[in-house]
Amino acid sequence: MALRGAGFVAPMTGEFMNWFFKRFGAGGDSGAKPSAATKTCPECGSQLMLADSVAEPVCSNPDCPAQVRRGLAHWCAPEVMDLPGADAALIALLVGRGLVRDVAELYRLKVSELAALPGGDEVAARKFWEAIAASRQREVWRLLFGLEIPLVGAAEARLLATGFPTVGAVFAAGAPRLMQDAGVSAAVAESVIRWHSDSVNRRLVKRLQQAGLNFKSELCPPPG
Ligand SMILES: [Zn+2]
Repeated sequence: MALRGAGFVAPMTGEFMNWFFKRFGAGGDSGAKPSAATKTCPECGSQLMLADSVAEPVCSNPDCPAQVRRGLAHWCAPEVMDLPGADAALIALLVGRGLVRDVAELYRLKVSELAALPGGDEVAARKFWEAIAASRQREVWRLLFGLEIPLVGAAEARLLATGFPTVGAVFAAGAPRLMQDAGVSAAVAESVIRWHSDSVNRRLVKRLQQAGLNFKSELCPPPG
């Protein structure tokens, strides 16, 4: 990860810079990493569990700051929603200050809140705010990939966006239609349905729609 695009952290103070490069040098994450040996998350103390999609055990607490940061970093990555300027340092600040608790909250940030962060200023804050606004228009497959549905990587997200005209249609389809219309495996279809059966996830999708994100797939050929 590097300082890209919007260059939010460009006017960094010395202290912030030291802090940033310490973090950045440690792998772009904010320090403590869960390990199998500890069995509990070093950040929030919740139990660690093994997930299908990642090699390392992950914290079972969805509200854990480490989990929130990881999910946000995935959402903002160039190969996902491509949100320039949202590097590990900025994400750590946004989560650490309670400004962003999930990806939908990115779309509620105010320029004044961003400008008040250490190392931020009005110009950089506005630039990052505009980058967030622009990300509302990303293709649907990117949004589906960004949700971190287990087993749904970029390839599966593209299949879903090709088989269905909207995000709503993907989640309204049963397993047979997901498999037939999008050509995903039974395991992926099951995973999509299981993910969307969780009320927190359903609410997240709804909030993203209310935040004005693009839900219409341009990969899906029009009927007829
Ligand atoms: Zn945790």
